[in-house]
Amino acid sequence: MHLLDEIESVMKEGFIDISPETRYVFKADTTKFSGIPEIVVNVKLESEVSSVLAIASKHNISVTARGTGTGMSGGAVPIKGGILLNFENMNRIKSIDRKKKLAFVEPGVVTDRLRAEASEYGLFYPPDPSSSAVSSLGGNFAENAGGLHCVKYGVTSRYVKGFKFVDSTGDIISCGSAYEKTYFPGSFVMIGSEGTLGIVTEIALELIDKPPVHDTYITYHNDLMSAVSTSIRISNSPVMPSVMELIDKEALLAAREYSDIFLPENTEAVLIIKTDSQYLPDLIERSLILEKILSSMKVPEWNRAENTAEEESFWDLRKAVSSSIKRIAPDKMNEDVTVPVTSLFELIEYTRSVSEKYGLRIVVYGHSGDGNLHVNILYDRKNDTELNNARLASEDIFKKSVVLGGNITGEHGIGLSKKSFLSIQLSKNEISFMKKIKKAFDPDNILNPDKIFNMSKG
Ligand SMILES: Cc1cc2nc3c(=O)[nH]c(=O)nc-3n(C[C@H](O)[C@H](O)[C@H](O)COP(=O)(O)OP(=O)(O)OC[C@H]3O[C@@H](n4cnc5c(N)ncnc54)[C@H](O)[C@@H]3O)c2cc1C
Repeated sequence: MHLLDEIESVMKEGFIDISPETRYVFKADTTKFSGIPEIVVNVKLESEVSSVLAIASKHNISVTARGTGTGMSGGAVPIKGGILLNFENMNRIKSIDRKKKLAFVEPGVVTDRLRAEASEYGLFYPPDPSSSAVSSLGGNFAENAGGLHCVKYGVTSRYVKGFKFVDSTGDIISCGSAYEKTYFPGSFVMIGSEGTLGIVTEIALELIDKPPVHDTYITYHNDLMSAVSTSIRISNSPVMPSVMELIDKEALLAAREYSDIFLPENTEAVLIIKTDSQYLPDLIERSLILEKILSSMKVPEWNRAENTAEEESFWDLRKAVSSSIKRIAPDKMNEDVTVPVTSLFELIEYTRSVSEKYGLRIVVYGHSGDGNLHVNILYDRKNDTELNNARLASEDIFKKSVVLGGNITGEHGIGLSKKSFLSIQLSKNEISFMKKIKKAFDPDNILNPDKIFNMSKG
């Protein structure tokens, strides 16, 4: 049977699409990488995923899973063509158990949909990438996504209580306590494996009690370093913010078009800080400590949101940053390096020296509470010197982050964009061990090939 007929025959609710328009649409994520898939398979059922994988394995065709394509490392780009498994329509929240505080979801569920539904049960799903209005939980799982609330509550893996996946031959496997199974050795490596080890078809996610009270502040600083020092000081205090986000001046100017927020003159940076608690007296205490720190750090001005609309305007500002930076330069390299919080100051000083060294503007914002900064190097890819300098600047910043005890990526993943820098972070032996894991899960290298690293032939 012809391959297309074979796939068509196993589709019960899903459908395939080979029109040039559709294939073109699925060629990229938010990066500049691109690869046109030969077949787009819009799955709806786990059995369809399983059958498609069995067919792909038989024909030795590559399979790239795609959530909603908001990835920032090229993970969902079908660089080898082959089959693109689109999870957009496999998007049921199967159940939410209030007592067990557990949600069973399909991978195509948009992150904020689960957050909103959990909220109706008085529950809270904390991992909230800035893209949570559009990213999928399958993509969050595959990238082990972080987000604004992760400084206090931890990243995606902290909430995974089990999952089901289809292996490279089409077999369906479940693991984790939610399925009354132990994690077999090695199953946990699936989280954050960027679709290279298996295709996730269901995730059991822990929910927590929604903190009933919170305060949200915006603080205005006359220089970036004072904002960074304030952020470090708060991190080292008992405030335990549930969100702490830094935005530098260039990012602010780019994003403020999307927000009616007031920015005092001379603002060079802001911090958006949220405190929350299960108990009002505890919240009041944390917020008081925070305000004392702001005074002792001589923060010139700050504002505590008086109502939901005002608070929303802070988040709108933060969430607009990433996309609006795209408008202030032809191209940007958005590096999401992570360092210990106490090294943030040094990292930012270093980015300033790198900016001078290569004559490129560098915009800084991100999750300063957990040391995960988005360092955006602005350049024009049509200018060869700028392109080359931007790459060198990225490399310098990666090296510095590792020297400072951090990572080359805090949440966006390696994918295509960072694979040539992997050896800055990992030794030869470590990369070779990761390849052994890949080989054990996917001996024919059909699952998202050439992501994270290339497998040598044979
Ligand atoms: C404006 C903006 C802000 C962002 N902010 C953050 C942030 O704060 N924190 C953060 O962590 N990220 C952030 N991101 C990056 C991105 O949103 C996350 O990486 C997100 O987890 C990707 O989800 P997705 O559904 O778009 O995945 P996609 O881009 O579709 O895919 C990402 C990876 O997941 C794999 N994958 C998808 N579905 C499956 C599946 N069912 N089984 C196996 N593998 C699968 C793909 O193959 C790919 O490797 C941001 C992106 C944007 C555009």
